[in-house]
Amino acid sequence: MRAWRAAIHQEPELSNEEVRTRAKIVDALTGLGLRPTTYPGFNGVSAALALDRSGPTVALRADLDALPVTEETGLPFASRFPGRMHACGHDVHMAALLGAAAVLKRNESRLRGPVKLLFQPAEEDGIDGGAAPFIARGALERPHVDFVVGQHLAGGIPLGVVGWAKGPMMGAADHFIIRVRGRGGHAGYPHRTVDAVVVAAEVITGLQALVSRLTDPTDPVVISVGMVHGGTRHNVLPDTVDLEGTVRTVRPATRATTEKALRRRVRHIAASLGARATVKFLRGYPVLVNDPTATDIVVRALTEELGGDRMVELEAPVMGAEDFSLYLEKRPGTFLFLGVDPPGHTSSLHSARFAPDESALVHGAAVLCAAVEGLQRG
Ligand SMILES: [Zn+2]
Ligand SMILES: [Zn+2]
Repeated sequence: MRAWRAAIHQEPELSNEEVRTRAKIVDALTGLGLRPTTYPGFNGVSAALALDRSGPTVALRADLDALPVTEETGLPFASRFPGRMHACGHDVHMAALLGAAAVLKRNESRLRGPVKLLFQPAEEDGIDGGAAPFIARGALERPHVDFVVGQHLAGGIPLGVVGWAKGPMMGAADHFIIRVRGRGGHAGYPHRTVDAVVVAAEVITGLQALVSRLTDPTDPVVISVGMVHGGTRHNVLPDTVDLEGTVRTVRPATRATTEKALRRRVRHIAASLGARATVKFLRGYPVLVNDPTATDIVVRALTEELGGDRMVELEAPVMGAEDFSLYLEKRPGTFLFLGVDPPGHTSSLHSARFAPDESALVHGAAVLCAAVEGLQRG
């Protein structure tokens, strides 16, 4: 697992570019005696074990893509490419799933049901993630999958501890793009312009009222503007200002009403100052909901395997997002967080210095094997 992980880590690839990563996975699976399936025009890889068994089929999923981050870990197997890094731990997810594949293959005759391995590209894309096209290409069929299990490295949980949750675990994440159109001109004569900068400022603060005044306080919503672009000089008012941000919600009905309210509010704030605004609202990943029964079974199996002190129920939902939610919309299953915090330190994923302890590999493989065992035993 260490060798697989180091080789993958050294050559990270961004979403939907995971061609070399796919080749490494195909090689590793072939080396284990499996027959991987690849797909034209899509970087996913799947493989199946114990196809002749009559028990339930469990699918295990790992993700393939890296992030546009320049690595600063100083690891001997650090990324060879500036501006690309496995900063979200997907290298560990892949190597742990390969490790689990090795253990399951060695014990194939003892499996009660088939196991499907899913190596999915483009988790980080946020809009055009890899789960939807993978499902469309039959990820959950041939053999028909009964349960899905996925895992993600996590800061905020001690190294070697597994975080679990029943029901909603991660929020839905949507992306909005706003263009405020005014009429630029001399900053000393604002009355002869329509000041897009002031309108944009009102939009940014005005959106927060959707959370504080239009949403039930017990129903979590996040609206964050992460990008503001406009202007070229301190004394010139620009024609346009562009804003981009994210909306995180948990309830589907709230997701829909927040989109509607956001569109209305932006339009009206702009109109009240004589400007216009366009809103593009791009739906990202839906809320991730863990099946309570499947989660109970997996938690019981992991408690047996790892011990109760290594299991922790999460305060959920958290407002990160994951396209594993799409598998969970189709099949029961559970998504787990794999703690990587060394004592006295909170790890930060997506950071240029993210360097999880290698013991996460063994730990991750053990979690996947124990989940299969539990779900097939029932
Ligand atoms: Zn990730
Ligand atoms: Zn990530």
